[in-house]
Amino acid sequence: MSDYRGRFAPSPTGPLHFGSLVAAVGSYLDARTQGGAWFVRIEDVDTPRTVPGAADDILRTLAAFGFAWDGEIVWQSRRGDAYADILNRLLEHGQAYGCACSRKEIADSARSTAADGGLRYPGTCRVGVPPGREARAMRLRVDDRAIAMTDRIQGPLVQHLERDVGDFVLRRADGLWAYQLAVVVDDHAQGITDVVRGADLLDSTPRQIWLYTQLGWPVPRYAHLPVVANAAGEKLSKQTLAPALALEARSSELVRALRFLGLAVPEELVGAGLDDLWAWALAHWNVNHIPRVRAISDPRWG
Ligand code: GLU
Repeated sequence: MSDYRGRFAPSPTGPLHFGSLVAAVGSYLDARTQGGAWFVRIEDVDTPRTVPGAADDILRTLAAFGFAWDGEIVWQSRRGDAYADILNRLLEHGQAYGCACSRKEIADSARSTAADGGLRYPGTCRVGVPPGREARAMRLRVDDRAIAMTDRIQGPLVQHLERDVGDFVLRRADGLWAYQLAVVVDDHAQGITDVVRGADLLDSTPRQIWLYTQLGWPVPRYAHLPVVANAAGEKLSKQTLAPALALEARSSELVRALRFLGLAVPEELVGAGLDDLWAWALAHWNVNHIPRVRAISDPRWG
């Protein structure tokens, strides 16, 4: 086995749909064709959005498609102590701080629009929580140096976090762990060398790189796959009513996912068994054939 360690990290907010199948296929083939290990992690930190039974359903579906993962499944909902340790370390070093601001206060403040149209934190509590107020969220301090990365698929990206995002949340006001903290702590703990996932997460990657740097940890390589979108360009998700994958159509769904990722699956393989499809895909995987775009509309979801 090589040093490569990859992973697929679904959020159990619903059953596996075609968009998440594409992410699973991309990360799996990239790992296995490089002799790497491949792990599955259930990202169930956002408990209000977690649907009971969805994680088991996702794991059953992955197994039915023929994915074989290494080691134990990691459940983020059981990793609170690890996240708390890292947050405390950042607080002790003054790299993170408590914040009393409400969402409305941030939205009303000057310079609150982030580069991606989201909310940019203007830094109100950087110098301490105002008297009479209570820290609710925990934020990581950023500065305005350029964070540059080269994604294996999407190419170069530069962000200035202070200007584009502001100090960002590690633990939310409601006590839940933020994705940014959980994903970095877990990818580091699992020794992940290569993150292959949907391009909807590309714009948050500089935040993760900053967090790795703050903790003195090596930054993994990144490959952001185009996401599956509907005709309106919206990412296929539970919110856009993506249907669950039909198990009786596994072979044709796998062919679609491979073609979506730029693999020219020959017509004679359409209808083939899963083993034959995986063998062909492992022999033909090439990251350079993946379209270098952030999203591709799939006519099936007009
Ligand atoms: N849990 C995230 C999602 O389902 C993926 C996170 C990641 O791969 O880093 O969108």
